[in-house]
Amino acid sequence: MRVVFFSAKPYDKQFFENLNKAHHHELHFLDVPLHADTAVLARSFDVVCIFVNDEASLAVIQQLADLNVQLLALRSAGYNHVDLTAAQKFKIPVVRVPAYSPYSVAEHTLALVLTLNRKTHRAYNRIREGNFSLNGLMGFDLHDKTVGLIGLGKIGFAAARIFKGLGCRVLGYDVLQQPEGREIGLKYTDLATIYSESDIISLHCPLTPDTFHIVNKTTIAQMKRGVMLINTSRGALIDTIAVIEGLKHEQIGYLGLDVYEEEGDLFFADLSDKVIQDDVFTRLLAFPNVLITGHQAFFTQNALHKIAEVTLQNITAFAQKEPLPNAVK
Ligand code: NAD
Repeated sequence: MRVVFFSAKPYDKQFFENLNKAHHHELHFLDVPLHADTAVLARSFDVVCIFVNDEASLAVIQQLADLNVQLLALRSAGYNHVDLTAAQKFKIPVVRVPAYSPYSVAEHTLALVLTLNRKTHRAYNRIREGNFSLNGLMGFDLHDKTVGLIGLGKIGFAAARIFKGLGCRVLGYDVLQQPEGREIGLKYTDLATIYSESDIISLHCPLTPDTFHIVNKTTIAQMKRGVMLINTSRGALIDTIAVIEGLKHEQIGYLGLDVYEEEGDLFFADLSDKVIQDDVFTRLLAFPNVLITGHQAFFTQNALHKIAEVTLQNITAFAQKEPLPNAVK
């Protein structure tokens, strides 16, 4: 198959070209994101392969159908950036990588928690400047703290295991309760209890109409004063303006983000010579107790290997007219 990659980075090329030796597809890598103005670049390709901040809207999918694109292959688990109704209407199957490494995201969640708590990023700079003062670096023991996880799927369970291992009390909320949760030793509860009892709240549910802005002015007011809030899931789970107010009033004590509502204009690009135009994002950067990473929670060798492996398997299965177990319904 002739496959065009949008938003492709050098590391994507490295993993895909290596694993493609077993598949023999024709791979073409583009750095530009997919949107209405770039969809034309899919001309003459059978498969379009996209990542989380590419835009597969109705207008884009219609263009892809006009160009005879046959398959949309996502290099991600999440598919909130794809208009599935449009894909169905234009008969373009959508395949994804449902599980590539829950550990990568769960472990990054821990990295955010530990950095925010023990301020290792500030200590690193201080020591290099010969400043050995401890003022302002005090943290707290995670042992015995209550961690509330919203969304207990693959990543939520991996995070639950990590926090249990640290001696935390782990609460969880999910619309579905699976036996695995009780085996791990977490306590399923309702959202109100998560908000009122958790010292740390971490989001691991998908972005859907039900979870859009699940963290908002009302829910922030129900949280413990000084709560640590972590989002490695999707930016729009959080109403950023409400979170900024929560930080200003010290209702939120720490904020760790790997994702941001408007990240599509920022993340994965080197903008170090540019003026950032997003005033909400720059306001977040001004808080000393906010730590932001640029959607890198997935970014481990293991995850990239699995993403390339499963994506190529998805494309090969389609080429050979086999069933598509990773099709998004
Ligand atoms: P998963 O499908 O295994 O688990 C998601 C869980 O959320 C399920 O148990 C589901 O029942 C639950 N859920 C659905 N709606 C809910 C609601 N309204 N309230 C509470 N729970 C709800 O998915 P996963 O692999 O664990 O991934 C979780 C999310 O992590 C993905 O949707 C994606 O947005 C995000 N993610 C981020 C990165 C990153 O690099 N930052 C990488 C991979 C995934």
